[in-house]
Amino acid sequence: MDESFLTDDKRAEQALRERDAKIRGLFDANIIGIGVGERDGRLIEANDAYLRIVGYDRDDLLSGRISWMAMTPPEWINRSEKALSEFALTGAAQPFEKEYFRKDGSRVPVLVGIAGIEGTETHIIAFVLDLTERKLAEQALHEGEVKIRRLVDANIIGIEFWDYDGRILEANDAFLRMVGYDRDDLIAGRVDRDTLTPPEWRDYVARRVVDVKINGTIQPYEREFVRKDGSRVPVLIGAASFHESANQGVAFVLDLTERKRAEEELRASEARFRTFVDHATDTFMLHAEDGTILDVNRHASESLGYSRDELIGMAPTDFDPDAKTVFHQRMRERLGAGEILTFESRHRRKDGTEFPVEVRVREFEGRRVSLTRDITERKRAETEARENERRYRETQAELAHANRLATMGHLTASIAHEVNQPIAAAVTNANAALRWLSAERPDVEEVRQALRRIVENGNRAGEVVGRIRALVKKAPPRKDAVSINAAIREVVALTHGEAAKNRVSVRTQFADGVPLIECDRVQLQQVILNLIVNAIEAMSGSNHAPRDLLVITEKAEPDGVLVAVRDSGPGLAPETLERLFDPFYTTKANGMGMGLSICHSIIEAHGGRLWATPNLPRGAVFQLTLPANSEPS
Ligand code: ADP
Repeated sequence: MDESFLTDDKRAEQALRERDAKIRGLFDANIIGIGVGERDGRLIEANDAYLRIVGYDRDDLLSGRISWMAMTPPEWINRSEKALSEFALTGAAQPFEKEYFRKDGSRVPVLVGIAGIEGTETHIIAFVLDLTERKLAEQALHEGEVKIRRLVDANIIGIEFWDYDGRILEANDAFLRMVGYDRDDLIAGRVDRDTLTPPEWRDYVARRVVDVKINGTIQPYEREFVRKDGSRVPVLIGAASFHESANQGVAFVLDLTERKRAEEELRASEARFRTFVDHATDTFMLHAEDGTILDVNRHASESLGYSRDELIGMAPTDFDPDAKTVFHQRMRERLGAGEILTFESRHRRKDGTEFPVEVRVREFEGRRVSLTRDITERKRAETEARENERRYRETQAELAHANRLATMGHLTASIAHEVNQPIAAAVTNANAALRWLSAERPDVEEVRQALRRIVENGNRAGEVVGRIRALVKKAPPRKDAVSINAAIREVVALTHGEAAKNRVSVRTQFADGVPLIECDRVQLQQVILNLIVNAIEAMSGSNHAPRDLLVITEKAEPDGVLVAVRDSGPGLAPETLERLFDPFYTTKANGMGMGLSICHSIIEAHGGRLWATPNLPRGAVFQLTLPANSEPS
């Protein structure tokens, strides 16, 4: 249509229609909230966007229930009235921020602009923008800033703000402390990336800066800073750029001095431990739970002949022939309970040779640690000690035998007399029998009696000889159940002649029910014989009467026996008492001085005790105890 044909009125009318259509279009587009209201605040029209913002629906609108005034919270009323005055004066109000109450009572932040509607005096049109999203974003930003500020001020970690030119724009105290600069240095621009970076780190740091530029952030990495005084400080540093101003960023810096020192210390102590373990003269092994070797010290390789690499991965059964039997389930349980196990075993070297070991094992943090000691030397010493002991016992036995022979030699005269007596009696009886037989009428009865006496005398002589033979016989030590009383009675009988010759009266006082003693009968008799002979000899030297010898047996607690030999001789001088049991100690011109020493060792070998005390009123007492189950050796 050619507009030149239109009248002015028509043109104006058309313009108005077009503008109305535009407003309607804006209204219906619902991009922003649009509401039309009375001056008193009652809303008479609104688009969907408006209703959505304030949370009302179209029915609320039609019933006239929505009012600007009612929707405005008290603290915003002033601001709204100011806008209305502005509108009254100029016909419009600049957009301003305020809040509305929604229908549900919650609040919504909005940007509101007001304008009049041409042709109506009373109607106002309001444009409303929902600011919720923007407010939330602002709040988040603010909270983020507050958090960062707090982090900066807390000075727990060092924080610096930098730009890509290497300037340090700001830093907290923790950072400055770390690098040894003060705030004046910072303000004067004396602290920058280059100054802080050691030369050998510069290339690396430059690459990290590029990374931040490309990715916005980098993973923390370890490096060093140069302090103001030139010293170095190890740090962990992470950085990020600010999105808003891409030329700047922030870095978080952690001082690693302490951690490095601790690491260093740990390394040093591990090295020390390793040296210690490697220089140890025992084998150390670390085992997995199933026994597999995880690590060994140097001595392990030296003693077994395998290299460390060969040993790692081996099982103890590979070099310990007894490991299987030694390491049964029960041991495993005890290890699990935290016990340290010690046992002896054998180890086999790579070349096949074996050596005895003592192994100690304990569990440690789910693993097993073993310490193995080569006990070849100890075993050799033990064998040697056993051998020495055996030789010593042999020598003792020889000596004891020699001593018995000597004692018996000493008693020869008395014993010969003892044997001679029954033989002489037998001869006398034989002569008598012959006489009875050669009579005219032989008296058979007399002859029978004479012959019976001959048998008795023969037996007596045989017994004496038998006892002597038993006593001087060289026999290995043995263990019998010996009746102490019977054994002593035999010895007393043997010395009977000697006692009589020296005018010594011998008495015995044997307790009933003395237990049998497990011991070597001959050795025990030798001891008693020595004590009796010594007592007789001691008393024979003095001219004082009486010469009394008393041999006593008693039950000793708990189940042993006590024997005492008391004499009324000169007794024991203090210096004699001290050395009585020493070998070769004698006060006699032709004494050997071995008797008591041998007696002492015999009684000790049987687990008993032999000691001497003075007798009252005079003389000496030798006493010995023997346990019931003594072990003759
Ligand atoms: P020996 O009889 O060959 O001297 P012993 O070892 O039997 O060797 O005795 C050592 C010493 O102990 C004797 O020389 C003597 O001095 C002393 N002695 C042993 N028994 C008695 C005793 N009953 N009374 C006094 N002295 C004794």
